[in-house]
Amino acid sequence: MASTACRNGIVQKGNSKSSSFKSRPHPSPSLGSAIRRSSSASYAGNDGVPGRVRVAVRLRPRNAEETVADADFADCVELQTELKRLKLRKNNWDSDTYEFDEVFTESASQKRVYEVVAKPVVESVLDGYNGTVMAYGQTGTGKTFTLGRLGDEDTSSRGIMVRSMEDILADVSLESDSVSVSYLQLYMETIQDLLDPANDNISIVEDPKTGDVSLPGATLVQIRDQQSFTELLRWGEAHRVAANTKLNTESSRSHAILMIHVKRSVVGREEDLSSEINHASHLIKPSKPLVRKSKLVVVDLAGSEGHMLEEAKSINLSLSALGKCINALAENSAHVPLRDSKLTRLLRDSFGGTARTSLIVTIGPSPRHRGETASTILFGQRAMKVENMLKIKEEFDYKSLSRRLEIQLDKLIVENERQQKAFDDEVERIHLEAQNRISEVERNFADALEKEKLKCQMEYMESVKKLEEKMLLNQQKQESNGVIHDKYTGEEPGASAAEDIAEIRKLLQNEIHMRKTAEEELNKLKSRLGQYTESGRVNSSGVPPPWDIISRGFPAIEGSAETLKMQKCLERGEFGNTFTGLDKHSQFRDSGNGQKAPITKLFEQVGLHKILSLLESEDANVRIHAVKVVANLAAEEANQEKIVEAGGLSSLLMLLRSFEDETIRRVAAGAIANLAMNEANQELIMAQGGISLLSTTAADAEDPQTLRMVAGAIANLCGNDKLQMKLRSEGGIRALLGMVRCGHPDVLSQVARGIANFAKCESRAATQGVKSGRSLLVEDGALPWIVQNANNEAAPIRRHIELALCHLAQHEVNAREMISGGALWELVRISRDCSREDIRSLAHRTLSSSLTFRAEMRRLRIEF
Ligand code: ADP
Ligand code: MG
Repeated sequence: MASTACRNGIVQKGNSKSSSFKSRPHPSPSLGSAIRRSSSASYAGNDGVPGRVRVAVRLRPRNAEETVADADFADCVELQTELKRLKLRKNNWDSDTYEFDEVFTESASQKRVYEVVAKPVVESVLDGYNGTVMAYGQTGTGKTFTLGRLGDEDTSSRGIMVRSMEDILADVSLESDSVSVSYLQLYMETIQDLLDPANDNISIVEDPKTGDVSLPGATLVQIRDQQSFTELLRWGEAHRVAANTKLNTESSRSHAILMIHVKRSVVGREEDLSSEINHASHLIKPSKPLVRKSKLVVVDLAGSEGHMLEEAKSINLSLSALGKCINALAENSAHVPLRDSKLTRLLRDSFGGTARTSLIVTIGPSPRHRGETASTILFGQRAMKVENMLKIKEEFDYKSLSRRLEIQLDKLIVENERQQKAFDDEVERIHLEAQNRISEVERNFADALEKEKLKCQMEYMESVKKLEEKMLLNQQKQESNGVIHDKYTGEEPGASAAEDIAEIRKLLQNEIHMRKTAEEELNKLKSRLGQYTESGRVNSSGVPPPWDIISRGFPAIEGSAETLKMQKCLERGEFGNTFTGLDKHSQFRDSGNGQKAPITKLFEQVGLHKILSLLESEDANVRIHAVKVVANLAAEEANQEKIVEAGGLSSLLMLLRSFEDETIRRVAAGAIANLAMNEANQELIMAQGGISLLSTTAADAEDPQTLRMVAGAIANLCGNDKLQMKLRSEGGIRALLGMVRCGHPDVLSQVARGIANFAKCESRAATQGVKSGRSLLVEDGALPWIVQNANNEAAPIRRHIELALCHLAQHEVNAREMISGGALWELVRISRDCSREDIRSLAHRTLSSSLTFRAEMRRLRIEF
């Protein structure tokens, strides 16, 4: 029973004995890791005792019946809300006063009741502690109103169950946390599942180690939203009503128990992590995989009326057992009979002990139920003395730890592999870069080395070349000394001189004879020309001169003053009746086909013989003009044969001897050169002693253009395979070489061409096996000039000589002389530097196919 102090009207605070409660060991078997913590709720008040069961009293307003029946009576209770006191009227003059953690008047809102009574417990549950909210009171005082109203019709009337779930759902994360609910009814020591009515005998399982209580047989529904929860409550309530109807009981005799299980994953504190986990990763710190399991038990207790009576005890054993336990706890009794009933067993881990507990005591105002109200108040007063020892319900979630570690491990493996790959790539990249650099340096080095080597070789070649030239010079000096010496001691060339003189005499006589014939012919022509002039047929219409043909053959004949004179001469009729048949209208004007037509006509109509005969005219002017006409004709391939047939070649050759007139010689030589382009003519020229005549001119002439023509003619002859020997034996090569004294590049170019032609024919003959022995060019001493001019500035000269050298080098027999003559250097140079690829590769091929050259190059250490 309540303490006497209360009865004497002395206000007794629940916490007045709290010191003795605190010193007392907690009865719970699982106290090892119990944590005492202060409540976060305002409900804790300023009493400074955090772990006590909180008790509030709620007064229901008078109902309709009471309003009528108790109209003449005052309420049996009076509330002093600011003092949190309740005065229970004993009679009209006496009352007992009790202090609670909170007192709610009849007008207290559901919201405030929830916030004061249940919210601290809910928060505590969300923090990982078990918690219990219980309503105790006489039937009809508002337990279900306070706890179980759904608030469908009026949201403000929502009860503690609904509001608790609202707060829980608002706080948890549905991804990582879970909220599940069981809803049970305890009647006559039988637990029924309100969510599955068929499941009507659920047993309680207690973990002997932790003291945790569970109902494995109860339906557990996961809650994800508020609506499903209210539906579940509605459903459960409907079942409760149905079950009670079936059992013919009143719901007031049963306890409704809502269990909300909250499972939260929490990030653990670092110091709790095992060292191996710490070692496992330097990248991501795995959080401690803790699961905090807690439960909120909301108990709508059976009506408290008469439970103290013996007969009621058997009906509601659980409620009386709860009272006994509360008494034992409140009185510091050594034995708390928690195991005596299903309810006390069920609440073992949720009421007092390790849980936070709130008790709302509901009372009615009616003085008729004063006794029941008083016993209810005393129950509440005793409950206020029960101390809680809060214990956080945390445990390692090994499954999830292992899963998380696996994930972590996989992450690390992936990261490691990635890093390994990146590292390998980097190593590879550096390796490649280093290799590139090395090869670049090697390349640069090799290039520089090659350049340096080449430079050294060139210098070496130059100096060797100079030395050899000096040596050659010395040899020549010695030889010439020897020759002089020979002259004094050797035999005279008298015999051949006499022969020469005889030859010259013969030529002279021939000459005189020819001249006479020519003079006669000239006179004849003159007289004919006189006749022609008289007839006045020669036009003066300014027609294009028939001789003014641009030679397309080798030597071009200049027009200029001489041509004009010739033209005048013709106009004056100096060529006599040769032109009688010319029709000025039909011939000279009709020059649209080009310039060939008139000269051809002239040629046809005047007669070649006549023109040729003029070549021997006594009149130098006539000779000059005649030779120009012939030369122009000779430039035309079509005329060449006729000119030769008509003896023009001989006449032209003869003219080469006219020392007195350079022009005649030049033009004649040009004509001969043109004729010499034709292979058949070449043989004729040779047969008519052309070489010796050309050679004489070559030796005598000073005029570079004459020499150019002569050299060109000989060069053409040099290209004839059949004439090689004859050409050489008649002094053609020497004549050619003799002309280089002139130094004119046009002449040198023709000389070089002749040499190249000759060398080519020789090479061909040697290849065919027709020729053996040294080159005649070498024999005739062409090599020094060839070597000297191999790098001539003038491209035409250089090209011909380069080719000549290549041809000469193709035959081993020439190799020795070529080497001693310095030709090897030139060949090496050609093979390296020549801008013409064909010549360069020809030189290269030639050098590499010659054993002698190769040996010499090895000797001279020429890289090839
Ligand atoms: P109990 O569950 O304790 O038997 P109920 O909650 O069923 O009592 O309440 C009985 C009646 O009283 C109901 O009609 C209820 O609506 C009404 N009631 C209870 N408490 C209050 C209150 N605080 N304000 C208004 N009506 C209340
Ligand atoms: Mg009820």
